[in-house]
Amino acid sequence: MKILISADMEGATGVTWPADVLPGTPQWERCRGMFTSDVDAAVLGFFDGGADDVLINEAHWTMRNLLLEQLDERAQMLTGRHKALSMVEGVQHGDVDGIAFVGYHAGAGMEGVLAHTYLANQITGVWLNDVRASEGLLNAHVVAEYGVPVVLVTGDDVACEDALGYAPEALKVAVKDHVSRYAAVCRTPARTAADIRAAAKEAARLAVRQEPVNGGPFTVAVEFDAEHLAMAATVVPGVERIGERKVAYTSERMYEGIRTFKAVTTIVSAAVEEQYG
Ligand SMILES: [Zn+2]
Repeated sequence: MKILISADMEGATGVTWPADVLPGTPQWERCRGMFTSDVDAAVLGFFDGGADDVLINEAHWTMRNLLLEQLDERAQMLTGRHKALSMVEGVQHGDVDGIAFVGYHAGAGMEGVLAHTYLANQITGVWLNDVRASEGLLNAHVVAEYGVPVVLVTGDDVACEDALGYAPEALKVAVKDHVSRYAAVCRTPARTAADIRAAAKEAARLAVRQEPVNGGPFTVAVEFDAEHLAMAATVVPGVERIGERKVAYTSERMYEGIRTFKAVTTIVSAAVEEQYG
């Protein structure tokens, strides 16, 4: 049994503030340890539950956050940037039986600790076929095309509630309770590691490859916090402006859908000028 762990940082234990997840800051250095603790707990739980192979795919920002040297020696880690499937890279080779979303968070415009979808502030909402979408929802559609079930989701309580919509069967572990975008009631790493390990052990039973699902066509709409970003995004082929600050595109498969989304976020990031006012 092979498990893939998609590891994002905003939903990790103890993380509530932008500096906590911004590479190079002292707070990030500190929070990497708690992030690694969450991921390692999932690794241990999956091996407890009978996994033979666990691959961790770093999914946050530069994709170089986890401390390899603190992980269980049986795990392997895919670290670094530029991967065809981004946050769920590794799912496409036909050998993964289940995927865990560790450290996930609510989507742009939703309540939730550090809620966003790819970009922190420039994207104010994403909709997939008119349903408000988080990264978890988008990625769940990608992995479904490879027949891989989402078996475990960890994050704040809002991320767990969000996961009820896209992975109702998956085990969920809330490592903190949302108070505001930048505040949460946090549980200690010792406590959350025990919770995650126990849930991952149980989640291993759900790791059974399914028939691939093609739920398309997928229409993705993206709203920005400034109108020029909508203009900038339309350089991506297939992306049309549908409002003053909103664009949309349609893909037959989520494989293309997520790649177009990455292209849009890359172009839009480059179109953000200095702050003023
Ligand atoms: Zn992230």
